[in-house]
Amino acid sequence: MSLTEWNRELEHATAEDIVAWTWRRFAPDVMLTCSFQHDGVVLAHMLHAIAPEAPIVFINTGFHFPETLAYRDEIVRRFGLRLVELEPIMPRPEFAERYGLDLYARNPDLCCHINKVEPLKRYLPNMRAWINGRRRDQASTRTAIPIVEEHQGGLYKVNPLASWTSKDTFYYLERHGIPTHPLFEQGYTSIGCAPCTRPPLAGGDERSGRWAGREKTECGLHTFLEPKAE
Ligand code: SF4
Repeated sequence: MSLTEWNRELEHATAEDIVAWTWRRFAPDVMLTCSFQHDGVVLAHMLHAIAPEAPIVFINTGFHFPETLAYRDEIVRRFGLRLVELEPIMPRPEFAERYGLDLYARNPDLCCHINKVEPLKRYLPNMRAWINGRRRDQASTRTAIPIVEEHQGGLYKVNPLASWTSKDTFYYLERHGIPTHPLFEQGYTSIGCAPCTRPPLAGGDERSGRWAGREKTECGLHTFLEPKAE
């Protein structure tokens, strides 16, 4: 089957069925990236139900909110997840000395590259399928996300929640008795590193509090891979 046919077949499948399809087709080389926002937690719950051995990959930039780390620990303990924690490519003292801990304010692309993108890049060659929690309704830059994307090197990126809304994720957590992120109650709708995250701007989309006041809208994790040439 071609990528187009996969997408046609999966467009109306449930998220659980898409996760199961991914595992059937690519196991054991399947991972989920999870920054312990609600989308990632929903997918971790689904993936763990069918493949408890699948790695749940958390990129620990060293800049996360303490609330995120506490929520991560709580979810990992409740579900019994196999957490894989990726570290920045540069030890923190060296990073501080070379760039300063306020690099995020002067050059956030470089900061994301060192602390997020490069650690993931180094992990990905072990994988054939990368499940992630992006949704089409999160931002104008995400409205055309397909269910499955094919990248160079034979890696498939799978987006089981592409057609979900933030309410869908909230109701899923509620239905399964899973707690929400503590900052969600304080009005945060998208939660990344503490220095680069604010509650959403008035009238802005769910991700508008990320790098607020800057041109930047993505950390780079979802933009560095080249699509497979036609
Ligand atoms: S989100 Fe901000 S603090 Fe986190 S890695 Fe990127 S620039 Fe640095």
